[in-house]
Amino acid sequence: MPTTSGSRTSSQSKKTRAKKAPGLVPSQKRRFQVRLLKWYEKHGRDLPWRKTSDPYHILISEVMLQQTQVDRVIPKYHEFLGRYPSFEELADAPVSDVKKTWYPLGYNIRPERLHSIACETVERYGGHLPSDADELLSFKGIGRYTAGAIRSFAFNEDAPILDTNVIRVLHRVFMAKGDPKTQKARLWQLSEALIPSGKGYDFNQAMMDFGATCCTARNPSCRQCPMKSFCKTYPFDQKSPRAAVRHEGR
Ligand code: SF4
Repeated sequence: MPTTSGSRTSSQSKKTRAKKAPGLVPSQKRRFQVRLLKWYEKHGRDLPWRKTSDPYHILISEVMLQQTQVDRVIPKYHEFLGRYPSFEELADAPVSDVKKTWYPLGYNIRPERLHSIACETVERYGGHLPSDADELLSFKGIGRYTAGAIRSFAFNEDAPILDTNVIRVLHRVFMAKGDPKTQKARLWQLSEALIPSGKGYDFNQAMMDFGATCCTARNPSCRQCPMKSFCKTYPFDQKSPRAAVRHEGR
């Protein structure tokens, strides 16, 4: 059973108006939302960063998860926060120490970026990460995905996300044709339009879990899948040219 946003007060929730994605049939949208959230209630993963809404903790987890599998991230997430419990302490640390703590996660540009984000957060925002999309995107090292994750997981906004798992699920269920890499604009539209009002936190977490454990890159669980009655890729065929599209995920 996942830890959900249910404990957050309604005053913390900033909802954005539902966006439209051309070609998305309302009944299909509703079916996808209901089935995904029901699936998540039963199969959602119990992860440490789902027990907090602290923007600093969310940022650390999201940057770690960008290139690394969940089981490798969990111990490092705890170690990193134990060593640098706040933006201030991370900003004060020498970058070389931060990189040592990061080892062996790899992609060492990530600890450098985190350090730079921490310095900027302290200097420009008094140690508090902003929730505004444009302000988040103005940080070097925060792209559209990370900004959406911070807004939905730390600030409970209905902000879209699009990582490899979400791309894979949306492309398979609603598109099925073409290379997802060349259809990012459409995928962002879908990600935004599908979020049920006020449920961005749970919906986005559910999307990532669904992609990581059900609609996996290889051998997805199509027969048990709640989307199979309308998924455009069902049944997924490992030998089809579509399967050759690189669909990795955390
Ligand atoms: S039916 Fe198969 S391909 Fe479609 S969403 Fe479910 S697991 Fe993914």
